[in-house]
Formats: sequence, C-alpha cells, structure tokens
Amino acid sequence: MAPEHGAKRQISMVGGRPSARQAVGRLVSRNGKAKPATYSAFGLLRHGLSQHPWPRVWRQHELASSYDAVIIGAGVHGLSTAYYLAERHGISNVAVLDRGYVGGGGSGRNTAIIRSNYLTPEGVRFYDRSVALYRNMATDLNFNVMFVPRGHLTLAHNDSSLRTMRWRAEVNKLQGVDSEVISPAEIKQLVPFIDISPRTRYPILGALYHPPGGIIRHDAVNWGYARAADALGVEIHQNTEVTAIHTKAGRVTGVSTNRGEVAAPIVVNCTAGWATLIADMAGVRLPIITHPLQAAVTEPVKMFLDAVVVSGSLHVYVSQTDRGELVFGASTDAYASYSMRGSLEFTEELAGHVLELMPSISKMRVLRQWSGLCDITPDFSPIMGVTEVEGFLVDVGWGTYGFKAAPAAGEAMAQLVATGRTPELIAAFDLARFSEGRLASERGAAAVGH
Ligand SMILES: Cc1cc2nc3c(=O)[nH]c(=O)nc-3n(C[C@H](O)[C@H](O)[C@H](O)COP(=O)(O)OP(=O)(O)OC[C@H]3O[C@@H](n4cnc5c(N)ncnc54)[C@H](O)[C@@H]3O)c2cc1C
Repeated sequence: MAPEHGAKRQISMVGGRPSARQAVGRLVSRNGKAKPATYSAFGLLRHGLSQHPWPRVWRQHELASSYDAVIIGAGVHGLSTAYYLAERHGISNVAVLDRGYVGGGGSGRNTAIIRSNYLTPEGVRFYDRSVALYRNMATDLNFNVMFVPRGHLTLAHNDSSLRTMRWRAEVNKLQGVDSEVISPAEIKQLVPFIDISPRTRYPILGALYHPPGGIIRHDAVNWGYARAADALGVEIHQNTEVTAIHTKAGRVTGVSTNRGEVAAPIVVNCTAGWATLIADMAGVRLPIITHPLQAAVTEPVKMFLDAVVVSGSLHVYVSQTDRGELVFGASTDAYASYSMRGSLEFTEELAGHVLELMPSISKMRVLRQWSGLCDITPDFSPIMGVTEVEGFLVDVGWGTYGFKAAPAAGEAMAQLVATGRTPELIAAFDLARFSEGRLASERGAAAVGH
C-alpha cells in the first residue's frame, strides 16, 4: 500500500472548490481567518438582561446529496478532522455524520487523561504534538477546555516495570518530553495519601513522573471542536446512521444513511468501537477487537490529589477533578462486546485495588459508573491513513488512549485529505504495518495508563 493515497487527483479538486458554507453570520474575521464568535462577560450580561436565547452552538441542516468529504463519527476524532480540514485547508463542504449525538461514543465517556510519555519514538512524537495542541486549544477554539497539566505518575511495583519506566523515561527525554523515574519518597511528596510502605501486597518501588501530563474536560473539547467546525461551515448531522458504503472500481463513491444517499469522493472512518463494522461496509478488514472499558466517579471532596496516579500492576488509575470528585478507571473488560453497561465485578475489583494504594479514602462513596467501547489493535497503536479502497480513510484503533490523540490525529488526517500525502507524523501507524510485519508496540505504555 503506497503512503500516498490514490485519491490525490480527486482531493486537489476538492481543495480548489469554493467553500460556500463559510458565509455564516456568526463568523468574525480575525487576521484574515474565520473564527466562531467570542463568548464575553458583556455578552453574558446582555443575554441575562435581555433574556434572548443563546444561538445554537452548532446548527441543524438538511442532508445534502453530496459533499467533498464525509466523516463518519461525531466523536472528538471526527470533529477535530473536520475542524482542521476547514481551518487549515479551507475545505468546509464536509458532513460529519453520527448515528447518535456529538460525543456520545468514547469521546464523552473517557477519563480525559492527557500525556505523551509513550514507549516508541513515533508514539512519543505523535502524542507530544497533541499535548502541544491541547495547551493552546482554549485560545484556538475560544472555548474553555479546562486543561490542567497536574503531572502524571505511572507506578512501578516490580523490577521489570521499573525497567520499563526507565526505558520510557530515556525515550521520552530523547524526544524532548519531560519524564523521569522518581523514588517512593518523591512519590509521597507529590501524593501524600499514597501508601508507600513495604508491607503492602504490591509495594511501590518507584514511578515514571511526567509533569506535562494532566486532565481536561472532555465535553468541552468535543463541543469546542463542534462549535468551531460549524462556524467554519462544516455540517454536523446527529441521528444520521451510515448503513452502507458505496464503492466503484476500487474507490469510494458515497454512503447510504437512514436519511438518504450521500455522494462523496472521500469517506473517513472515525467510529472507534464501531470501526470494524463501518470498515466491513467498504470491504476493508481491520485488525481490531472491540472491548468495553468502564470507569467510575465518587462524591466530591476537598482537593487532596493533584497528580494523576496510574498502576499497571493493580489495573487502576485515579485523578481528582476540579469539582473534587475522584475519577477511577481500569483495564478493559476481558471479553469482546459492544455492550456499554457497568458491572458490579468492576466496582468491587476497582475499590479493592484503589484502597491498596490509598487506604485512607475507604469512606468515600462511588456516585456512578459507566462504560464505553474501545477499538483495540494488536500493538496498542492506532491505525491512520489510507486503505485498499481509494478515498476510504481510517482514523481508528484508539483503544483506551484516543482522546489525548485527537488534535494531532485530526490535524494529520485533514492534511492527508487535503494533500493526498500521508504526513510523516502518522506514517508509522498505517494499516499496511500489520501485513508487512512492522508493528509499533505501545503495550508497555498504553494498556492501563490511557
Ligand atoms: C471509560 C473510558 C475511559 C477512557 N479514558 C481515556 C483517557 O483517559 N485518555 C484518553 O486519551 N482516552 C481515553 N479513552 C479512550 C477514548 O475515549 C477514545 O479512544 C476516543 O474518545 C475515541 O474517539 P473517537 O472520536 O474516535 O470515537 P467515539 O467518540 O467513540 O465516536 C465514534 C462515533 O461513531 C458513531 N457511529 C458508530 N457507528 C456509526 C454509524 N453506523 N453511522 C454513524 N455514526 C456511527 C458513534 O455514535 C460515535 O459517536 C477512554 C475510553 C473509555 C470508554
């Protein structure tokens, strides 16, 4: 499979079309670029006094019979791809189709951990680009996404995981990413409530400390991208299920939906847990298995936990939100399924493992738990780029770690659509790596840490 996808001819035609939908009333022009109208204290006061309803953050549209590109999935990946297509490349005759609602998949169900301390140089470079885009996102989208780089700790409970942490720290440093292995005493300074005594079942021997890691508000990211993409002329169609993908002579020609037929020379699959079902419609096989992943949140308490704490051996991680709730997560459920239901086994196991780390929080009550779907690849790295069907592109395989990746993935996928060339940043994550035997294994850095 060539890194340049064969749809280049079609794509450059796409790039040349005038973006008629850019004439949206709510746009303001700044430095020659269209941006969504700003939220301001004055606007808040005016709306409060006048009782005028706020405009819809993104609009509803009739489904057109054709678009320059159709993106399936209005999660953070579909939305960021659409946003960067419009913002960077002026391609806004784009429809984002979702059978549910914006952020209804993993993008509204994740635990919002952001980090770039991966294991492979390709992975570290890629996720670091995303962290950089997250840092400026609130300004770029004019939407408060509440990114807080509180620091991320991955605990090591045995010699082999300590060795992996050292390995990751060295790879990170070589890529310019701030990571180092710290001692139990240093961990205790960062997380005073953690039990570092040697009498625990899994004593803590050290941790990989990654100061730029942190948490964000996932809904705000989804809504910020949706709002900005809409303002640039992209159409977001909720309750629009793709039921078939059409191809002719080896290239994609459009999709069928529950609201009618849509022709498009480019179709991008951004459906995460449902990715193989969509790829099957185009006759493309993906090495992905879908597993549920559960999480839980407690009642809010006074702030006491600054860093994000992850333990691979205990299959658990914990962070505290700005509202004071503790957010817990674990590894994926052991079985493949499309079910998004919580289970009692999960909560019981989670509670046991969390209390091994922080016995003093035993009185806290869990308020709710939930589940989402994760599209797991054999090497715990994503699949991005071209497929054997011309014009049918994939941005999938995001497993338990895809939220943090969305800005860099969307930026790169938009570049691929606009130029026909696979950006260097994502070249290692192509589909062909599985048939050519060059995996990008992130197993040691992606399984529980998210
Ligand atoms: C509990 C949990 C915790 C997580 N924690 C983290 C974390 O801390 N950090 C991190 O980086 N990642 C985390 N993840 C992973 C992350 O949430 C996902 O990788 C990411 O959100 C995937 O985004 P997406 O846009 O690709 O897919 P999704 O957000 O899943 O969106 C896919 C969309 O496709 C739509 N769709 C499906 N089929 C069709 C169809 N036929 N037609 C139209 N639309 C369709 C769905 O309705 C859905 O809205 C977590 C996931 C879960 C479940």
